[in-house]
Amino acid sequence: MSWQDDAGRDLVRSFGERMELFVRGEGAYLWDADGRRYLDFLAGIAVNSLGHAHPVFVEAIATQAATLAHVSNYFATLPQLELASRLKRLAGTGDSGRVYFGNSGAEANEAAFKLARLHGAATEGKAARPRIFALTDAFHGRTMGTLALTGKPYMQEPFLPMVPGVEFIDSTIEALEAALDDRVAAVFVEPIKGEAGVLDLPDGYLRAARALTHEHGALLIVDEIQTGAGRTGEWFAFQHAGITPDAVTVAKGIGGGFPIGALITFGAASDLFYPGTHGSTFGGNALGTAVASAVLGEIENEGLVANSAERGRQLRTAIGAIDSTLVGGCRGQGLLIGIGLRHPVAKAVVAAAQEHGLIINAPNDETIRLVPPLNIGDVEIDEFVRLFTAALRTVEDALVLDASTRAGVGGTAREVSA
Ligand SMILES: *Cc1c(COP(=O)(O)O)cnc(C)c1O
Repeated sequence: MSWQDDAGRDLVRSFGERMELFVRGEGAYLWDADGRRYLDFLAGIAVNSLGHAHPVFVEAIATQAATLAHVSNYFATLPQLELASRLKRLAGTGDSGRVYFGNSGAEANEAAFKLARLHGAATEGKAARPRIFALTDAFHGRTMGTLALTGKPYMQEPFLPMVPGVEFIDSTIEALEAALDDRVAAVFVEPIKGEAGVLDLPDGYLRAARALTHEHGALLIVDEIQTGAGRTGEWFAFQHAGITPDAVTVAKGIGGGFPIGALITFGAASDLFYPGTHGSTFGGNALGTAVASAVLGEIENEGLVANSAERGRQLRTAIGAIDSTLVGGCRGQGLLIGIGLRHPVAKAVVAAAQEHGLIINAPNDETIRLVPPLNIGDVEIDEFVRLFTAALRTVEDALVLDASTRAGVGGTAREVSA
């Protein structure tokens, strides 16, 4: 029996076929069961901020597991308090900020959804705000609440009816301005739409959204699950815009591979939850928070936020210099990079890259997404360019062969392969 047979028989079919079986990782590299090495520029989808098996990550898990892993939220632990204060400092909440811990991005956004409902509830002297806005195409998660926030009809359709109240608006300042009124509780924004294809918001969007939500008394909730933890060249993408949101959600990169998510609230939004309104058994346990603190500490100590900005620029320049008919422009910021392709062959490029020993990802048919570890350097970038160029060439050659086959020139090649 092969691992493919085992996976096909035993694993839930909600995911597509697994592309490879990996047995080990170190730094920006993965190894399969045959000992073949791959350069990993997906990093578990923007999760492995420090790469694989980083000594700081390993040491934090081992030490905390041997000290105190979990006591429930009836009690406090030192790692939980340390991570809460660290996240408040990095996000710039000031004293009035608060942190809720969950175990994933979806849980962080579920907490944000409930925060929005609490803000929207009719209370003495306060009218109800039943409306919640999210952006078309943005991704906020797969649970029923976060799916309701995710503006992708094909994802929602099998699971209707959705949790009510969410309306989708186009990602333009004009659309937000036209739709916003005093019955809106919150506006959810993904500052760079990662899953949709690394799509940037229009210039000035976050600043305009901040001003408009202030004007109408709605919360501005920024989903930094993919963009946070230094990935875009600031600790959080909203910091490029110089705004203060009401809440931010984080997950993916903050744990470096350990499952953890958090909702960080600012100012008055920090007073909305009260005892009994939300919770999680595992959320914020000592083990997870100790690991996230160690990962964020390493990002801070090693200057990896600046490295993300710098290596992002270096990669964009290198990609721009690749001689290929397939490559269009780059989107995103820092080490969240979307490479636009001129033909809908992204899946073929991903497959060819894997053949050449490079792991990358295609969020859609025309986009390659790169989210490498934040600590990559010249060696990894040079190797990426070599492998990616080879993968592009493989796909270009196949396209040329295909075109000549269709023109009748290479007919024998197709007959032979068929
Ligand atoms: C990945 C992601 C989520 C969901 O996180 P999970 O940990 O998979 O639940 C939500 N929002 C954004 C922007 C993401 O990239």
